[in-house]
Amino acid sequence: MIPEISQRIQALAVSQTLAMSQRSSQLRSEGVDVINLSVGEPDFFTPDHIKLAAIKAVDDNFSFYSPVPGYMSLRKAISEKLRKENSVSFAPEQIVVGNGAKQALCNVVLATVNPGDEVLIPTPAWVSYFEMVKLADGTGVAIPSGIDTDFKITPAQLQEAITDKTSLLMFCSPSNPTGSVYTREELQALVDVLAKYPRITIVSDEIYEHINYTGNFTSMASFPEIADRTVLINGVSKAYAMTGWRIGYCAAPLNIAKAVSKLQGQYTSGASSIAQKAAEAAYTGPQDCVEEMRKAFERRRDLVVRMAREIPGLKVNQPMGAFYLFPEVSAYLGKSYGDRKIETSADLAMYLLEEGHVATVDGAAFGAPGYIRLSYAASDDQLKEAMRRIADALARLA
Ligand code: PMP
Ligand code: GLU
Repeated sequence: MIPEISQRIQALAVSQTLAMSQRSSQLRSEGVDVINLSVGEPDFFTPDHIKLAAIKAVDDNFSFYSPVPGYMSLRKAISEKLRKENSVSFAPEQIVVGNGAKQALCNVVLATVNPGDEVLIPTPAWVSYFEMVKLADGTGVAIPSGIDTDFKITPAQLQEAITDKTSLLMFCSPSNPTGSVYTREELQALVDVLAKYPRITIVSDEIYEHINYTGNFTSMASFPEIADRTVLINGVSKAYAMTGWRIGYCAAPLNIAKAVSKLQGQYTSGASSIAQKAAEAAYTGPQDCVEEMRKAFERRRDLVVRMAREIPGLKVNQPMGAFYLFPEVSAYLGKSYGDRKIETSADLAMYLLEEGHVATVDGAAFGAPGYIRLSYAASDDQLKEAMRRIADALARLA
């Protein structure tokens, strides 16, 4: 008899970002020359001074269980970073380090959402938000936006989506998957609405803080009206090219930090001791590596946007942060390649992978069918070749 899988996990969607990336690695292992623009991760190596700190941690025998919420030295370094860079005040006791921002987010959702609670999620949204809410038996409520509003929601939309059951807002700027960055004024307008609803907790995912081309970053937690009920999420994956090290954190009101720590203590314990020491070096060491990578992403943004705008039918915004392009592709839906009919953006993403040999992600995975997502965290040469392949594959559709 085959063991049964719980309904909770049966109801969960597979992460499409990771699935597309695995599919592209599989094709590559079969000898197909695929360019992978599906998963969003910096293609840079972790800077040397951070790697050396990890080597030192091994030599210094940081091989024992770490404290559940993270080493105090790391939480102090994060508290200091938040004060200096974001003008927000979180004591080290309010910070819980976890296995990436992904775990930090999921911890907070599990620690705050009751069955039946509504969680507001501006869409397009990162693939995991809705699934995390599902795990907590909450109901994800989309607040939709499209390319015409630069993928930003309005205060009126936010106001309209709030009900008696709303407990959380999951917010992300710079945004995955659209690259949109809300200005301080736009954030203030949303905060003005939230100020009227003290029972709503705000989760602000700031993982792309440093991959930002506006020259400005405002943290949601810096608005005094909502500061005491805002949970800030961040980590080292994107800013320091450390996706595999798995270190992220929440900075939260003390009761949420304690609840998250209790959950993590039963679930995964403290994050990797070695990776925490590396993250501490990232926060306390020289920061020029962050700016160098940001500049490279900005140059690549300019390249892919220019090439995408030359492709007839693709509608492209000007992403101001993160490393994603989220073109609207509806002009190609309903077309065919031989017997192959392209009805949906999922069909198009599969066609681009199998016929164009470029891996992208279907917009539907982010709650936005009719779009696809490209990650431009790849070399300039790969990006040029990928955009050429996409242009050729799309031109073959009739
Ligand atoms: N939030 C967003 C918006 C992301 O794109 C990612 C991607 N990895 C994460 C959180 C999680 O990051 P990590 O777990 O690698 O820290
Ligand atoms: N956040 C990245 C992405 O959206 C990494 C994969 C994931 O964790 O979903 O592609």
